[in-house]
Amino acid sequence: SYIAPDSYVDTNIKGTLNVLNAAGKEGCEKVVITSTSEVYGDPEVHPQTEEYRGNVNTIGPRACYDEGKRCAETLFFDYHRSHGLEIKVIRIFNTYGPRMAFNDGRVVSNFILQALKNEDLYIDGDGSQTRSFCYVDDLVDGMVRMMNTPKDVHGPVNIGNPTEFTIKQLAEQVVALTNSKSELNYSGEFREDDPMQRQPDITKAKELFDWEPVVELEAGLDKIVEDFKGRL
Ligand code: UDP
Repeated sequence: SYIAPDSYVDTNIKGTLNVLNAAGKEGCEKVVITSTSEVYGDPEVHPQTEEYRGNVNTIGPRACYDEGKRCAETLFFDYHRSHGLEIKVIRIFNTYGPRMAFNDGRVVSNFILQALKNEDLYIDGDGSQTRSFCYVDDLVDGMVRMMNTPKDVHGPVNIGNPTEFTIKQLAEQVVALTNSKSELNYSGEFREDDPMQRQPDITKAKELFDWEPVVELEAGLDKIVEDFKGRL
């Protein structure tokens, strides 16, 4: 599902250049780029700080997305250095919330759909890999705060929820919350280059703009489950 090189190149590199050039032409005051925790690859530093330079396999199936985003960050900083445009770089960690597309493909929406239909939840590997899930309202609050920081704050700044769960724990929580009859079905194999652990260090966001997420996973899942029920 990660092989869509043309679109990743289009959105991450051509799109970034288009945005920067448009911002320059229109005389925009500042521009934010929504980068990603994927720049850290399968991280050897845990939790991930912004200083960590990452562990991306440049030729793996995730590389086009990961390196595309890394390249997009370089374009932002080059544009800032050469044209003085005020840039704001945030790195978004796994985010979820109401109105996600049913066919989004990421783990939270997949599990909720499967649980609501009483189908098996498909877990890659043994479910021991971790992610830290941020509710969308918290993310948006962080983005707005980053945009309002002083001119000399460029980031990158991690935006994510530091409470870490295994994928197995997430599956169990979704099944319990939905009172589902679904069972957990393990593939036994991890996705190629799948990050085995992920947790943002959000010290910078706290210091720079007094931000930390307030919505815990259970409360956030409740909201997205209600939304999915209504739309199913
Ligand atoms: N995953 C899973 N079942 C799914 C979708 C994802 O077990 O239906 C796993 C996936 O292998 C990965 C984790 O959940 O280890 C998060 O995957 P997702 O695509 O949501 O986010 P990302 O890998 O980009 O952080």
